[in-house]
Amino acid sequence: MTTTASVDLTIRDITADSPDSVCTTDLLTAPWDVDTSPGYGPGASMDDTIPTTAPRQGELPQEYRDASDAELDGRIRAAKQTLGDRVVVLGHFYQRDEVVQYADYVGDSFQLANAAKARQDAEAIVFCGVHFMAETADLLSGADQRVILPNLAAGCSMADMASIDQVEECWEQLAEVYGTEPDAEGRVPVIPVTYMNSSAAIKGFCGRNGGIVCTSSNAETVLEWAFERGQRVLFFPDQHLGRNTAKHMGVDLEQMPLWNPARPLGGNTEQQLDDARVILWQGFCSVHKRFTVAQIEEARRDDPNVRVIVHPECPMEVVDAADEYGSTDYITKAIAGATEPTTFAIGTEINLVQRLAAEYPQHRISCLDPIVCPCSTMYRIHPGYIAWVLEQLVAGVVENRIQVSDDVAEPARLALERMLAAKPKA
Ligand code: SF4
Repeated sequence: MTTTASVDLTIRDITADSPDSVCTTDLLTAPWDVDTSPGYGPGASMDDTIPTTAPRQGELPQEYRDASDAELDGRIRAAKQTLGDRVVVLGHFYQRDEVVQYADYVGDSFQLANAAKARQDAEAIVFCGVHFMAETADLLSGADQRVILPNLAAGCSMADMASIDQVEECWEQLAEVYGTEPDAEGRVPVIPVTYMNSSAAIKGFCGRNGGIVCTSSNAETVLEWAFERGQRVLFFPDQHLGRNTAKHMGVDLEQMPLWNPARPLGGNTEQQLDDARVILWQGFCSVHKRFTVAQIEEARRDDPNVRVIVHPECPMEVVDAADEYGSTDYITKAIAGATEPTTFAIGTEINLVQRLAAEYPQHRISCLDPIVCPCSTMYRIHPGYIAWVLEQLVAGVVENRIQVSDDVAEPARLALERMLAAKPKA
């Protein structure tokens, strides 16, 4: 099989040989064909429950659904040229190449939000990512800039695992257990910490309650910040990032109870909560959950010198078995910095891995998971939707604007500012 940078093309190659090698061959189909009701669609998060509050995308006009790839390409490029500096297109690392090719900036969610902030001249920001990322871009961009998510059904199953109502309910229960008074050292009973992959409402919750946001790059620094101010941390939505980070900092696994929002006290006893240092919300990323220790063993059997790097959203056993772990930025820099030809087995989303493999042909770079299964929520962004929102902008119409209300935006920005001010211990 020929390796190409495009996951779309790779899926075609694989399915031609073996139809069982991907999550579903529906991935080859446009979102409007598989989304009989807008949802997460095929891919690694296809089995996740769609929250009732998830935004729904209206029907894409027929002309975009009927257009060939070449026609969409021509229309997107023409619209971008007409709009010039008035529009900036952002593409997340996990987008397929068929989308990334139109991006003015490519990066992780926080890098892209900062790119939006740096382009104050652009009236519109077309964010080829998922819903929470577009919200973060709206928080950080200028008041007059419009952030557009081409397909509103592009949510994130992990972010959706912590709703604001569930988190408020959890907070009330914790206040009953811990009270609200600080200890003798002035540390409050619990500090809420949310991963960037969460809704603006959750970031706002953290801002209102003395909490903070973290990314996968700075989670340890942020937890240090939180432990200086609180006796313990409530970490959401990703249990794996929370567990992997706290474990690396020396927190005992027994002091990290899991909070199941469907059960009283999250399914814990008061004693367990009293002993807790980090309460982990029961969320996960469907893409990173797929990586296993067996895959690492297989990669080592194939090449004993393989360098295995995984993302901290992977389960703890996988992170422990890998040679290294780190954010997408860490992974990218590790590969860019390798001076000798190296075999890499990477545990993160397939589109990024494929792009790195194409960019660094001197190395052998493959995904730990042999089954091509991209993030299905990212897959909702199809060139048809990009052509539609751009041509609407040319016509003076703003479709799919993502706008965070002021009452949420103010505390959410506070939580983000705390993150930016948090410095690693010297
Ligand atoms: S890769 Fe995971 S965390 Fe990222 S958008 Fe997809 S489901 Fe969400």
